[in-house]
Amino acid sequence: MSSEFSVTDYAVQLTPEHEAFRKVVREFADKVIAPKAAEIDRRNEMDPEVLEKAAEIGLFGIPFPEEYGGGGGDDLMMAIAVEELTRASAACATAIIASYLVSTPLYIFGNEAQKKKYLPLLASGKKLGAHGMTEPVAGSDVAGIQSTAAKRGDSYVLNGRKMFITNGDKADIFLLFARTSPPEPGKRHRGITAFLVERGTPGFTVGQRIAVTGLRGEHPVELVFNDLSVPGENVLGEVGGGARIALTTYDHGRIGVAAQGVGLAQAALDAALKYSVQRQTFGNYLLTYQQVQFKVAEMVSAVETSRLLTYWAASLSKQGKKFVKAASIAKVTATEAAESNAHKAMLIMGGYGVSVETGVERLLRDSQVIKTYEGTNDIQRLTIVRETAREMGLPV
Ligand SMILES: Cc1cc2nc3c(=O)[nH]c(=O)nc-3n(C[C@H](O)[C@H](O)[C@H](O)COP(=O)(O)OP(=O)(O)OC[C@H]3O[C@@H](n4cnc5c(N)ncnc54)[C@H](O)[C@@H]3O)c2cc1C
Repeated sequence: MSSEFSVTDYAVQLTPEHEAFRKVVREFADKVIAPKAAEIDRRNEMDPEVLEKAAEIGLFGIPFPEEYGGGGGDDLMMAIAVEELTRASAACATAIIASYLVSTPLYIFGNEAQKKKYLPLLASGKKLGAHGMTEPVAGSDVAGIQSTAAKRGDSYVLNGRKMFITNGDKADIFLLFARTSPPEPGKRHRGITAFLVERGTPGFTVGQRIAVTGLRGEHPVELVFNDLSVPGENVLGEVGGGARIALTTYDHGRIGVAAQGVGLAQAALDAALKYSVQRQTFGNYLLTYQQVQFKVAEMVSAVETSRLLTYWAASLSKQGKKFVKAASIAKVTATEAAESNAHKAMLIMGGYGVSVETGVERLLRDSQVIKTYEGTNDIQRLTIVRETAREMGLPV
């Protein structure tokens, strides 16, 4: 029995283009996002200017080909961008990457007419996307969704409710999932279909905002469909094959969430280091105390481990290799590093660590959400075991 990864699968190659790109995104994050981050969190409102300016520098279309209005970049660039954005504000990064939960499956599964119609709008950031899978009764268990789509002539009529939909109140183009046929025994994932829906379609309502502990400013919402009629040409991929579209989307999106973990973990490290060389107690800077040094060493290790794993997953995806296990490992490691680093930074900073003013407690709140969405870390652990068993030819 052996793992199917070869030594070369561990290579991560960042080029000067990647680093030049990082510089552009960091400058944007420092100048445009960072000064607004605390206010976005305090008011629990996104600043539309952040999204407009992100669109201007191409942050909604990084990996898509230029013919669809994208930047022609790669998965590593995507990870770098998300890391840098999150370092300034996880909420702003989420508003941007949630749109990719529509544009990525559209690019992978869409037909030419759908791609020509919608992808340039999403990739340019002129229109924002929102992805609606989760329901009041089903989150991790995608096959458990109960929204229905009944065929009526050339159209489908959707009824149901979605919960926790990021960008749901701001988006123009939605990817919605509903059952076109009931689950079959042993094939529960069959019968779910993906639909592209435009804002303003009759029968589509944005429901309540859902207050969440972190990512304030990017509050998710409920969506309600009452006899929402969608033309058959807006079915994405195969009728009944929507679960595969969703799960493929989450495999890619998970690398982005891992990159968010890296960004948060780095932000906590930055804050703790800066503070510990400014603050003195008993005549010594905090960083001279071994207990602080040990915490900082662990924080640095957590950042670098998470970054390496995230870039590893992105590199595998970029090369068209199997990356699902790597993405899950990266997501668990990086999001838990974010939590642990935020907590350590709060301890190192004493009273200022728990003060809202310094923004460090925001990092801890944000880390709770990124551990939860795009597949909870429990679900990632199940994926890691399943993929490993498969690689070793063991029954799963
Ligand atoms: C801020 C935010 C934004 C979101 N944005 C979106 C969005 O844009 N679009 C969208 O469709 N969804 C979105 N979600 C939903 C998110 O993906 C789900 O909340 C998540 O997948 C978990 O689903 P759930 O909340 O129903 O929890 P459940 O699936 O009910 O899980 C509850 C608990 O049980 C554990 N658990 C469940 N099944 C198992 C198992 N088999 N083994 C072990 N443990 C298990 C979970 O890990 C969790 O701890 C968002 C959520 C949040 C909080």
